[in-house]
Order: sequence, then C-alpha cells, then structure tokens
Amino acid sequence: MAIVRVALPVATNQLFDYWSPSGLEIRTGSVVRVRLGQRRLLGIAVDRVEATDVAPERVAPIDEVVTALPRLPPDLCALAQFVSEYYQQPIGQCFALLLPPLGVSAGGREPLARRYRLTAGGQAALAGLVNTRSAALQQLQRLLRAPEGAAIGELRDCGAHAWRTFAVWRKRQFVEPVPEKAEIAPGNIVLNAEQRAAVIDAMAEMDRFAPSLLQGVTGSGKTEVYFDSVARVVAAGRQALLLVPEINLTPQLEHRIKSALPRVSLAVLHSGLSSSARLGRWLAAARGDVQLVVGTRLAVFAPMPRLGLIVVDVEHDVSFKQQDGVRYHARDVAVYRARLRDVPVILGSATPSLETYAHARRGRYRWLRLPQRAIAQSVLPSVRLVPNRASDSREGLGAALRQAIADRVARSEQTLLFINRRGFAPSLLCVACAWKAMCPRCAARLVVHRDTGALRCHHCGYAEGLPSACPACGNQDLLPLGFGTQRLERALAELYPTARVLRVDRDSTRRKGAFATMRRAIAAGEVDILVGTQMLAKGHDFPRLTLVGVLGADNALYSADFRATERLFALLEQVAGRAGRGKLAGEVVLQTDFPDHPLYAALVDHDYNRFAETLLAERELLDLPPFAHLALLSAEASKRETVTAFLERAVAHGRALLATSELRCEVYPPVPAGLARRAGLERGQVLVQSSERSALHEFLPRWRALLERMRQQRVRWTVDVDPLEFA
Ligand SMILES: [Zn+2]
Ligand SMILES: [Zn+2]
Repeated sequence: MAIVRVALPVATNQLFDYWSPSGLEIRTGSVVRVRLGQRRLLGIAVDRVEATDVAPERVAPIDEVVTALPRLPPDLCALAQFVSEYYQQPIGQCFALLLPPLGVSAGGREPLARRYRLTAGGQAALAGLVNTRSAALQQLQRLLRAPEGAAIGELRDCGAHAWRTFAVWRKRQFVEPVPEKAEIAPGNIVLNAEQRAAVIDAMAEMDRFAPSLLQGVTGSGKTEVYFDSVARVVAAGRQALLLVPEINLTPQLEHRIKSALPRVSLAVLHSGLSSSARLGRWLAAARGDVQLVVGTRLAVFAPMPRLGLIVVDVEHDVSFKQQDGVRYHARDVAVYRARLRDVPVILGSATPSLETYAHARRGRYRWLRLPQRAIAQSVLPSVRLVPNRASDSREGLGAALRQAIADRVARSEQTLLFINRRGFAPSLLCVACAWKAMCPRCAARLVVHRDTGALRCHHCGYAEGLPSACPACGNQDLLPLGFGTQRLERALAELYPTARVLRVDRDSTRRKGAFATMRRAIAAGEVDILVGTQMLAKGHDFPRLTLVGVLGADNALYSADFRATERLFALLEQVAGRAGRGKLAGEVVLQTDFPDHPLYAALVDHDYNRFAETLLAERELLDLPPFAHLALLSAEASKRETVTAFLERAVAHGRALLATSELRCEVYPPVPAGLARRAGLERGQVLVQSSERSALHEFLPRWRALLERMRQQRVRWTVDVDPLEFA
C-alpha cells in the first residue's frame, strides 16, 4: 500500500501519513484534500513511502487530489522545507505558504489563459475517441492541435457544446495553456553607463546562482537596472520576480513597470487582494502565463515554473520580515530560492543591511554601485545639522528650520517635516503629582490624540477619553509631553497661516484610498507643507519638494536595540532622498542634540559605507550579527511567574543540552521583553547566540523538541531565528 506523507497547516511540526487509493495520481507537490479528526484540510504531498509507523486501521485515505491547482514544483517544496528547518517553524504551516488563499473552494473557477493547446495526454486520449463526428468538436480539436495553440476567442466561437467539452478537457488536463512568448521592444529603458554596467554584471550568467548587491544612492535609477534585467530574462523566455516593501507597492510603480515594459505580462501579488484575485494571479504565475510577478514578502513563494531572476528592492526594509505566524525573512528566502533555481538575484538598496553589506564586502555577493543620481543636474541634497533645544524654539521648531520653511513657502516650493511619531503628544503628565497616563493592558504610555479627544495605546489599540483633570490628584493642569504629527500640524498652521498643511500618517490615511488622494494632491502642488511619519519616507517622487525637516531623530540613539542606528541612517537617507528629486536643489535640516555623532557626520556626507564600517567594527567587538547568529525564544502568559518559570526551565534544558554536546552556543538568562506587558499578557524572552551558524542550527531543533515536550498550556511561545525585533 502506498503511503503518502502530507504537510497539513497545523502547529505541530510533523507530516501526516495517508494511504493513496488506486486511481489517484499523487506525486510530490500534489495538492490533496484529507481528513484530520473532524476537519477537512488541504495539504501538500511531500513524500511517498512504503510503510508507516501508524497502526493500519488508523491510516485514513486521501479524499481527493485538487485538480484546480497545479502540482507545486520541486524547488518550491524544497523552499518550504528550508523555511521550516532554518526558521524552526512547523513544516505544515511552511508548506501552507505555498498555496493561494483557498477559502475559494477547490472546484472554484479557474481563470482562463489566453491560448490553449492539447497536452500529450490529451492527444493520446482523443486519438481513441470516436465521438468526434460533430463538426464543432472537430473544429475544436483542429484548433487545439496547432503548435501555437488556439486563442480563447476562437475556441468560444466553436459553439456552446464545444465550449462545455473544452471545460471538461481542461479539467482532465487534456489541454494546457500556451506559455506566452516574450516580445520585448528594446529601447523603452534608457540606461546611463553606470546602470548598463550594473545590468551586465548582475546578469553575466543567467543560469547560475549569482547574488549581487546593487547599492545606489536615492534617485540613482536602481529601478531601471531592475527593469532592464527583467527584460533580458523575459526575452530569454523566462519569468522574473520583483519583491518590494509593502509601502512601495503603489499604483505609480505599476504604472512605471507598464510604461517601461509594455509587453511584459504582469501580476501583482499582495495580501490586500481579494482571495479570488490572489488565486487568479497565483494560477497565472504557476502556469507561466505571467512573465513578471511583483509583490510583497508573501510573493517570494509564488509558483513560477520558468523563474529566471529575483530582485529584492530596498532589501534592508523590515517589512520583508514576517513578525508573526510563520516567521521568515523574505529577502533571505529569496536568496535561497535563487540558489535552488540557479538563477541571479539582485538585492537593491541605498543603505544595505549590514548582513548584505558584509556579504558584498567579503566578495560573496557582487557589489554593483550607482554613486550618482540619474537625472542630470540632480544632486543629493545638502544636509544641515541644527540645534534641537534652542531657546528660540517654537513648538519644537528652531529658528533655522522655521526660516527654511518660510523661504520655501515664499518660493512656492514644498516642505516635508518628518517626525516618526503619530498622535499629538507621546504622553500626558500631571504637573502636580507626576501621574502619567498609562495603558491598563500594556507596560506603555498612552498617546494623546487631540483630533479625536482620546488617549490611545499604540501597542494594543486601547482608547479612552482625554481626562479633564488628573485621575490621581484632581489637578486640572495636565501637560502633553513631546511632539507628534498632530501637534506639528497645528503649530505649522499657526506659524504659516497662508500655507496649506497636510498631515500624512496612519491616522489620517485610515480611510481606503485616502493616501492615494493625498499623493495626487501633493503631486499637483496643492500642498505647501507636509507633516508625516515614515509613510512618506519611501518611494515617492515630488519634484517641487525641496526641503526636508527632521525632528525627533535623536530618540533612536537612546534605543536598546543594537540595530536602531543602522535603521535610523537608512530611514534618514530615505527621507533626505525625497528632497530635490527634480531639477530644484534639495536641502535637509535636521534638529539634533548630538551633531558630532558619527551617524549624522556620515549622513552629511551621504557616506553610508563609512558609517557601515564603524557599525561593523562595533558589532565585531560586541559579537553581534553579522558576526554572530541569534535566535530568540519569546513567551507570554497572563502571570509573570508563569513566564519566568517557563523560560527558566527552557534555559535549564538548553544548558543541559549544551553540556552534553560539543555545540558552541550560549543560552542567556531570561529577561522581560522590550514591552514587558502587552494586551494583558506578561512577556519575556531568552536569547541564544553562536558565532557558528551550523552550531546554532544543530542546537535549535533539539532544544525545540524539548520545549514542545514541556507542554506548558498556559504559555504561548515562539522561536524567532535571525530576529530583527526584541520588543
Ligand atoms: Zn495629579
Ligand atoms: Zn495597550
């Protein structure tokens, strides 16, 4: 009896054995429907074996093979295995990442391809078919027999009977979609010498795993390099995958792709799509009908039978890291996928992550550079550091920044004021008794939101009305401390009464389509001063924007997170990059208390590499990534003692394991998480560190098996490999 091992979307890290009824053709990668207890689940066949340890009467049959979905290619199955092993995530949940959303029933309508032809199986089956006297069916067969296949319109014209027959043939896989041929019109993408050299280097070998870091300053035209590389791959009859951060996936990007690559068939994949749209695009990618898939991190798992290139834009962006559910880093998964497929992968950034930077530095990645802006006469903005706490400050805005804004308003140019805090003020304080508004469910302060008259928690969503007096002492003198976007918006309206001020943050863009409307207003010059969070930092080109003011950047310098300064530089360089994208020169005015900090000094020179070298030296000294490898065990429970007891036992297990092995890892004592309580749950964590990747990866599965055996019902825990956040 043939036993099939099936990956099912459940939290335990195991495969499930089913027997395969005769007549079902099940191979590795087949999508199947099975029963697990009372549930009917979709799973993926991972392996066929001859025998199972499960008692024969307990082995259930596979109910059906889902024919509406194609079999998943071997490299994708290998990718899911890798994600499970590397990131220590349950195997079935990793395989589930490969599937499109299937709230859609398996019998759901499959979108049609443009052309179809007979498969070898279909030719054989139809040769023996006698019932083809109908002229319409003969016509149908004749059309489908053509090597170039038949267009869907021609098939429809054969009449209703033939059309129904065609549907049956599709279901039986007698016919298949004809892969679309590339027709690249060269000349739509104009490259300068540096861009051309980058394309040639990155694409030197199309059939080999060849990772490149494309490091280009903002505005240097990395996108053109991506597009031209995509065009080459498509011209060779293959597919390309372009991953972008969530926030960069804008209609503008789609528009740019369509005008640069007009004949390339494109599918955009992201989690905001409806299930049926996602399924349709997923199928189009799986059949090879689309030549370019553009998407956010989940698109890294899109099935692409002729995948020939992967590009990750803004590779340092944290949105590539999945922070809950199955934890993985889409950039690193992309690199591994390219390795499995033996194809080039391009990681693009102005400020690469230190991990990628270190790979390039060691020669593991090709290091391609675009040191200049692509538009002639456009130069990088000048950066001016000005004092933060000057006596002449008004509502946090110093005289230098106020004057710079006034100049822009007078010249009808645009200003962007960047502060990475939404709300009116980050906390509310009683001046009489020092009471502070705290979230009752989190170890965090409540943020003052003046527009809705509320105190809000930015961690759990808790909200209450703004108090009119101190709840502790009754004093009516409550002081909003610090600055957020709302407070700046109000201050600017008072300081520049003639200017049109627009606030862009998560609160003001909550309504669907609001952000798009704002972007159009900005581009049309209907706004003079923008106040915004990092939503505005990325990927937008506003040619009349010539001044960027930065407030509150120093906060990151106090952070306990060792990656805080790396991220701050990336963010500031990106924000600065908004200034002077067109022919007008740009300027950045940054208010700081630490003008001598190496970060700011390097920012003034736009010299990321100098700063990266400083950081690398520091990380090496402290034995931190990329010189060490980390994993984080996080746990949460309603009682602090429960969390601590669980983590202490976890540490004891880990240390016992290390004592009896040669593995060189270190298991640190439990500590409270950065946010020690969230939404009523106490949170703690344990860090595991090793300077050898292999030691860590030998340790983790064994440790995790011990943790699973602890069966702590009141504790929720997760393991995060290569964690980016310690919150
Ligand atoms: Zn008080
Ligand atoms: Zn809260």
